[in-house]
Amino acid sequence: MSKVLKILARLIGLLVVGFAILYLFFPGFKKSLQLKAVDKMGDVAVKRMSENPDAAGSVAAEFINIPIKAREISGGVWQATGVGNAHLITTSGKDVLFDTGLSTQAPKQIKALKDAVPDLELSHIITSHSHADHAGGVKFWDEDGIDIVAHAEFVEEQRYLTELQDYFWHRNRTLFPFMPESPPTIGLIAYGGIEPTMTVANGQPLKVTQGGVEFELYALPGAEGADNLVLWLPQKKILFSGDFFGPLFPQFPNIFTMRGEKIRKPVEYVNSLDVIIDLDPDMIVPSHKDPITDKAVIREGLVKMRDATKYVHDQTVEGMNAGKKLEQLMAEIQLPAELALTQEHGKVSWAVKSIWEYYATWFHFDKTTELYHVPQSAVHSDILELVDGEALVKKAADYIAQDKPLEALHLLDIVDGGGVDNTAVLDARINALNILKSRAEAGEKNSYEIYWLNYRIRETEARLQ
Ligand SMILES: [Zn+2]
Repeated sequence: MSKVLKILARLIGLLVVGFAILYLFFPGFKKSLQLKAVDKMGDVAVKRMSENPDAAGSVAAEFINIPIKAREISGGVWQATGVGNAHLITTSGKDVLFDTGLSTQAPKQIKALKDAVPDLELSHIITSHSHADHAGGVKFWDEDGIDIVAHAEFVEEQRYLTELQDYFWHRNRTLFPFMPESPPTIGLIAYGGIEPTMTVANGQPLKVTQGGVEFELYALPGAEGADNLVLWLPQKKILFSGDFFGPLFPQFPNIFTMRGEKIRKPVEYVNSLDVIIDLDPDMIVPSHKDPITDKAVIREGLVKMRDATKYVHDQTVEGMNAGKKLEQLMAEIQLPAELALTQEHGKVSWAVKSIWEYYATWFHFDKTTELYHVPQSAVHSDILELVDGEALVKKAADYIAQDKPLEALHLLDIVDGGGVDNTAVLDARINALNILKSRAEAGEKNSYEIYWLNYRIRETEARLQ
C-alpha cells in the first residue's frame, strides 16, 4: 500500500472512531442524527400517502397534507400544526409543551417551534393520551430534568396498545390501506416506552403556577381512551382538549371506536363534559385541526354533546329494561332534532350497540350457539345441499333491486365459496356494498363506515379478477 493510501486509511479510521464516540457518548449527537433520519422518513411517508389513490379525498389524507408550521394562537401560546398539533405555552420561567404530534412529524414541529421561540426551554411535556398521534414526539423533546406529565391510566393504556400493536396495526391498515405494512419498531419512532414522571388521577386536578402562568390539568376519561388529560389555562380561559372531542367540534362522540381498543365509559364521558361546561372556555384548542374561538359555538356545542350522549345512553338503557332487542334499538334510537350533531366520526347506532355491550357484554342472551365455538357458517354447505344455490343468488339480487342490501348480504354469505357461479355472487356482493356506501355518503357520512365499505368493495373486486 502506498504511503498516501496508508494515511488516508488511517484518517478514515480516525473519522469512524470519532463518529462512533460522538454517537455513543453524546446523546445530543445521536438524537440529531435520528431527527434527520426520521424527518426523511416522514417526508417519504407523506409522499407515499398523498400519491396513493386509496387515500384520495379521505379525512386521513386531509390530515397528512396539513403543512407543518408554528403559529401564535394567543399571546405567548404557540401551535405547531400537523396531523397532531403540538402546543407550547411560554412563561417568564420555563415553558410547557402540550401534546407532541406524530413521531415522523416531530423533527419539523420541533424546528418550527424553536424557530418561533428561540429561547424555548421546557420544564414539562404533557401528553393528552397515549395515542401515537399525540405522544409520538415525546421522546424527541425529552431531555434530563424535564417532567413528563400524563393521566394515571396512561401507562396501562400504553401497555395494551404496545402488546396488541400488530393486531391493531392490521385493523387500521384495513381501514387506511395507504399505511406502511408494519409498525415502526426502531429508535425514537417505535411506539411506547414513555415513562411519565408526574401523573394526574380522575377527580384530582393538578394546579400549578409557573413563570406567572396558571396551569390546571384535569383527568377526563371517557372519550378517545381512559387516559384523557386536558390542560386549562384559567387566566386566558383556554382549554387544550387533546382528542377529548375527536377530530370535529361539535360532533356525536365516538364513544367506542370500530378500530378496536378497550371500552370507553359513556357516563364518564358525560361527567367529563360537565367538568368542561363548568370551566366555561373562551377558546378550545384541540390537538387536531384549528382552535375554536366562537364562545357561542363552544357553549352550545358542549351542552349538545353532553345531552346527545346522555340521551343515547338513557334511551339504550330504557330499551334494555323494556326487553327490546339490540338490533331494534339500533334502528329506533335517533337523536331528536334539537340534539342533532354530525355523525361523521361517532355514529349513534354504533353507540347504542356499544353502550348495550358495555353493560351486558358478550352474551346477548339470544342464541344458545353464541355460547359455543361453532359458527353459523359451519352449516352453510348443508344449506346448499338442500337448496338451489342459484336460487339464493337470485333472491339476493331481488333484495338488491328492492334496496335491501343487508338481507342480500346475509344470503350471499351462505352461497359465497359454496360452488355456485362465483362471479354472480361477487357481483351481487359488490352491488349490495355499493348501496350501503351510497347510503352512508348521502346520510351520516361516517368516515369509518365508508372506510370499511371501501375495504370490502376493494377486497371483493380483487376476488373477481
Ligand atoms: Zn388523535
